[in-house]
Amino acid sequence: MTDSDRLLDGARIAGEIREEVRARVASLAEAGVTPRLDVVLVGEDPASRVYVGSKAKTCVELGMLSRTHELPATTNQAEVEDLVKRLNRDPDVDGVLVQLPLPRGMETHAVLDLIDPGKDVDGLHPHNVGLLVQGRPRLVPCTPAGVIEMLQREGVEVKGSRAVVVGRSEIVGKPMALMLLHQHATVTVCHSRTRDLAGVCREADVLIAAVGQLALIGPEHVREGAVIVDVGTHRVTDRATVERLFPGNERKRKTFEKRGAVLAGDVDFERVAPVAGKITPVPGGVGPLTIAMLMVNTLRAAQARRGG
Ligand code: NDP
Repeated sequence: MTDSDRLLDGARIAGEIREEVRARVASLAEAGVTPRLDVVLVGEDPASRVYVGSKAKTCVELGMLSRTHELPATTNQAEVEDLVKRLNRDPDVDGVLVQLPLPRGMETHAVLDLIDPGKDVDGLHPHNVGLLVQGRPRLVPCTPAGVIEMLQREGVEVKGSRAVVVGRSEIVGKPMALMLLHQHATVTVCHSRTRDLAGVCREADVLIAAVGQLALIGPEHVREGAVIVDVGTHRVTDRATVERLFPGNERKRKTFEKRGAVLAGDVDFERVAPVAGKITPVPGGVGPLTIAMLMVNTLRAAQARRGG
């Protein structure tokens, strides 16, 4: 098997999904409906600003409308909540997304719980979480939904497989585990208190890393032939770390020289890829799928609210 056969090409699959959304948006436009996503950005976090920018840009590229509501970090909780309530009431708004993390001191759940569940395109409202738990999903978190979409489109046999998810966050790990369970995998969830993480991970046919720790998952965590999905995204700015993680990788070295940083994941790609059956790269793996699935959710929310 060549290296490229091994790669799970999230960027290509995200492109396919975006084209499907574009076609559906075009036919809705004929009926006079244009889906609209409103994003609330509080504070100055530079990474959040980049994410919000790409969400808005992708919406417009696919023929949907997008508005970004930028509030300064000094905004208080009540002002953010008032904005969410106003967007809930606005009949032109189909999707409401509050970019996380909110500034320190703000109560994230209090804000997310206010979003109209029918407009909750991040799938984090308790109503939508409950529907997912019950196996009748409506709007679900975009990153794990993108992973499932990729596994299905790449023909990975999830039914009956042993799946291990490393990470139990509300936005990735937990919904990921539920979605794999609903696809009939036998699922184990690991976290920071898991004993013998490597031993548990080695049982996986499908291993999902959503840990937020650079290159934590090494070959000792991987059974030969396993499918490895790396959700982690880290900007590595230290030359020695780049050389350690990507020895002899000219492409990474050039990117580092040009931009002063490279992206890497929770999986030690160079050492894990030779053992894996299939593996996602970082970048170009899960990241593009997350935005593509946000577009799917915005379209779905619009269709559910306005018909079509
Ligand atoms: P969180 O920090 O919210 O959660 C991390 C999880 O990993 C926690 O459950 C934590 O356990 C667990 N964990 C941390 N350290 C260890 C360890 N040493 N061993 C085992 N488990 C550990 O992160 P997120 O879920 O929000 O994100 C995970 C990664 O995915 C990040 O790198 C993030 O940047 C990336 N991400 C990428 C997206 C994309 O589109 N590509 C979208 C969203 C996130 P515990 O609960 O015990 O603390």
